[in-house]
Amino acid sequence: MSVRSAPRSQPYFPLSGVANDGWSTSTSATATCFCGAVQLSFPTEGPGLVDIFICNCTDCRKITASMFASNFTVDDKYLKRLRGQDNLMQYGQKHSIKSGEMMTNYFCQT
Ligand SMILES: [Zn+2]
Ligand SMILES: [Zn+2]
Repeated sequence: MSVRSAPRSQPYFPLSGVANDGWSTSTSATATCFCGAVQLSFPTEGPGLVDIFICNCTDCRKITASMFASNFTVDDKYLKRLRGQDNLMQYGQKHSIKSGEMMTNYFCQT
């Protein structure tokens, strides 16, 4: 279904990459890596959805290869790992984090 033919009264979930099983409801949605191996679901409202923000820090610019990143944070206890958790690798650093806390990112190995 294209954006133009999507009924405005129905939630529209744009597909990208090769995964075709994303979904959203009025209270949650999925996120999938580009190859589709990893899929998460997360709340789209509080209390599980903690914050939504635009950031242009150097880390966000580097990670997204763009000038700004649109981010959201989810309380980990509300995050559901639907598939592919064993296909993730992580990288963390605290060099650029003012608080000294570790910033860890997860990447699909595929
Ligand atoms: Zn992937
Ligand atoms: Zn940032």
